[in-house]
Amino acid sequence: MTQFQPRMLINGQLVEASDKATFPLFNPATREKVADVPEATEDDVNAAVAAAKAAFPAWSALDPAKRGSYLKKLAALIRQHNDELAHLEASSMGRPVTEYIDGFAAAGHYDHYSEAWAQIQGQASLNTPGYVNMTLRQPYGVVGAIIPWNVPLVFFAGKSAPALITGNTVVLKSSEKAPLASAKLAELIHEAGFPPGVFNVISGHGLPSGAALSAHMDVRVLTFTGSGRTGRLIQEVAAKTNLKKVILELGGKSPAIIFDDANLDRAVAETMHSIQWNSGQVCMANSRIYVQENIASQFVEVFKQKFSAVKAGNPIEKDVKHGPQADEIQYKNVLSFIEEGKKSGSLALGGKGNLESTGGFFVEPTVFLETPEDARIMKEEVFGPVVNINTFKTEEEAIKKANDTHYGLYASVYTKNIDRALRVAKALESGYVGVNSTSPATGRDLPFGGYKMSGQGREGWLHSMDNFLETKSVMIRIEDA
Ligand code: NAD
Repeated sequence: MTQFQPRMLINGQLVEASDKATFPLFNPATREKVADVPEATEDDVNAAVAAAKAAFPAWSALDPAKRGSYLKKLAALIRQHNDELAHLEASSMGRPVTEYIDGFAAAGHYDHYSEAWAQIQGQASLNTPGYVNMTLRQPYGVVGAIIPWNVPLVFFAGKSAPALITGNTVVLKSSEKAPLASAKLAELIHEAGFPPGVFNVISGHGLPSGAALSAHMDVRVLTFTGSGRTGRLIQEVAAKTNLKKVILELGGKSPAIIFDDANLDRAVAETMHSIQWNSGQVCMANSRIYVQENIASQFVEVFKQKFSAVKAGNPIEKDVKHGPQADEIQYKNVLSFIEEGKKSGSLALGGKGNLESTGGFFVEPTVFLETPEDARIMKEEVFGPVVNINTFKTEEEAIKKANDTHYGLYASVYTKNIDRALRVAKALESGYVGVNSTSPATGRDLPFGGYKMSGQGREGWLHSMDNFLETKSVMIRIEDA
């Protein structure tokens, strides 16, 4: 067990669940119990939303620079506690501490939004004769945020910071698979001195607390990152309750296209990193790679060498870059995809789980070749270090294969031909396109979000505040002199 005792933050108080219920959390690298985590009840959700609703009038009326000062304090506290946050994440979902970027990324979000309030602007026009018209941008009220476990604090901050600076109050639910760093942030929010009720953090499973938050009649916006399955449930519940605004960042099956004129060293290194980082548990990981036929064998050889050379092990050891899958459910899910993959494609690397030899939920870096495009592993998200490498002959064929998916989160193309790069970028059905670059590279001021079943709405430093602001039109008649 860690020394850390996770609690929730409701109405300015660090609390246990109202019925004292907890759920056990296990370290995926060792399977040792790490902590007992509060399981929020429906009453806890109601209490958090009521506190947020009560805090809203004063918070939204505050000078936005003052609101920003709380975010700034929180950013500084996160930076101070970065090492502790890295260790909490390693012990809950297995992220190697050397690969931990979330603390500084979260602090960056809070710092950025602390000063972004001047962008909250309406418009004015004289286009209606006899009137001066204007629009006002105003906060919704209570924002619910539900986050996944793979990069928890990036979503924690990426959702709460723009919601808070625009004058909304927040109830955030962490993921049951990675609740510890979020619980630590609850402590830091408390220490930063936010007024009670402005920023509430609860922990627990989808049922009951996630569902209760999505159904709550006083939650006006629900921002969600997670699986398509849960996204659909949230959308449905929102439609059946108060038609709250829903922002969905969902899964992906991202393609990378490598043409024969590409910088091969770069293409191999980056596409390998994309599917390896965080043990492949990344929504935008390039899980399908399409390589032009005449360079495929060369590409695959170097890819396999690099992928198998990544050091796996206990995520708290300094030189480890590849941790276990987040928990037993994820481990079994990835292995079941691998078994199916062996039947549809040709296994070129890995293909095993190493639970028995390591004591943790480690999956070998796995490569499949020549998998039919309609195989389940080519269509569904595996969320593990598993990649399918297929080939193509022509540009047209590559685009067709890349777009043959219900997802559309991130796609990439490697070529030195600028015309081809731009033709392909234009043709790819994807919310994000990397040219001679792939995920997880993103630009903080670019909008992030999915085409098709990868979601709806966009997030990003220039876009997220818009998600949390209503637009009101005001017409002012001017009497003739
Ligand atoms: P998940 O959908 O299982 O869980 C996400 C969150 O939803 C958790 O907090 C969970 O407790 C909650 N939840 C579960 N059931 C619920 C319900 N009925 N009502 C309300 N909330 C409920 O997803 P996950 O396994 O945590 O995350 C992995 C998924 O997230 C992958 O599909 C991945 O692609 C996606 N993801 C997307 C992005 C993106 O930006 N598009 C980023 C990261 C992860």
